[in-house]
Amino acid sequence: MATPVVPSSFRAFRVHVDGEEVRRTVEELPFESLPDHDVTVRVAYSSLNYKDALSASGNRGVTRHYPHTPGIDAAGEVVASRDARFAPGDRVLVTGFDLGMDTPGGFAEYVRVPGDWLVPLPEGLSARDAMALGTAGFTAALALERLAFAGVTTDLGPLVVTGASGGVGSLAVALAADAGYEVIASSGKGSAAGLLERLGASERVGRAALSDPSERPLLKGLYAGGIDTVGGVALENLVKSTRVGGGVAACGNAGGAELRLTVYPFILRGVALLGVDSQHADPETRREVWRSLAGNAALRRALADPELGQETTLEGLEEQVERILAGGVTGRVVVRP
Ligand code: NDP
Repeated sequence: MATPVVPSSFRAFRVHVDGEEVRRTVEELPFESLPDHDVTVRVAYSSLNYKDALSASGNRGVTRHYPHTPGIDAAGEVVASRDARFAPGDRVLVTGFDLGMDTPGGFAEYVRVPGDWLVPLPEGLSARDAMALGTAGFTAALALERLAFAGVTTDLGPLVVTGASGGVGSLAVALAADAGYEVIASSGKGSAAGLLERLGASERVGRAALSDPSERPLLKGLYAGGIDTVGGVALENLVKSTRVGGGVAACGNAGGAELRLTVYPFILRGVALLGVDSQHADPETRREVWRSLAGNAALRRALADPELGQETTLEGLEEQVERILAGGVTGRVVVRP
């Protein structure tokens, strides 16, 4: 086996939390500070997700121990491995599990993870495109799978994607439109209208369309359902407005975590409320989903859209973390350490 060539130190975007004070810096760390897992990966690209911004803000629901390196996504090349399934030179990606939560994450030049977390980079997918998709693309694909499994077919009516200009939202729009759904993109950003149309949305509505709290247990059944990244009142209204036999995949809580519903959408319309959890997806599902993402021509076109993605460095992350927390990011931010 080739002797791994590893440096004595590496750069990482670090978050320090001292009481109420949160400090973020790019630091040089000793190589031995990486955790004792089996596979060491030189990170070519990572990406910024909402959860990373929470971790970078001292949110103890995401990260318990600081100082910490966030980054729930990473793609790159294996440089050392004690796991027989991986050898130096292998191109791999990792999303979720504990990466970037309490395991030092992808906002660094290197990560070290258990082999079970790794997915071989599918043929034809670059590390950069893998991270332009990242947890967001993987989650959007899981949401669509859940809807298909629940029998939410394209002839049932339009599908609403909330938080449509965000990472999960924009890729969900592209994937759902490609799967044949009529997609209504719900977005607070007028500036994203062109992008959402190019991704395949047939209609764009403002956030207000789903943001009025209502005491009514059911609203007019307008939609086949949706992919929700916002939670709270938007998810309540989406479930209440879903037609008989429809379903809503709940992915996120960018707008709120509470849910006030009665049983009526479920027992009078058979609506399915489908939870989506990308973090704990099993290895087989991961490989299958990544293979299908890699082979999706519509996604390739989407990724080529300059408005869908932007690139930043470890130094640029500070600004992007604040932007994503304020709901201000359109599409995806790829990180090149
Ligand atoms: P982004 O910030 O990229 O997207 C979130 C979008 O939600 C924003 O762009 C904005 O879209 C909208 N939004 C933001 N704030 C509000 C608000 N206060 N009220 C209503 N809408 C708002 O984040 P991600 O795409 O990375 O993640 C989206 C959500 O999904 C997060 O809650 C995240 O934690 C969750 N998630 C869950 C996963 C899972 O496995 N279940 C995996 C990945 C993410 P617009 O301006 O277009 O309305």
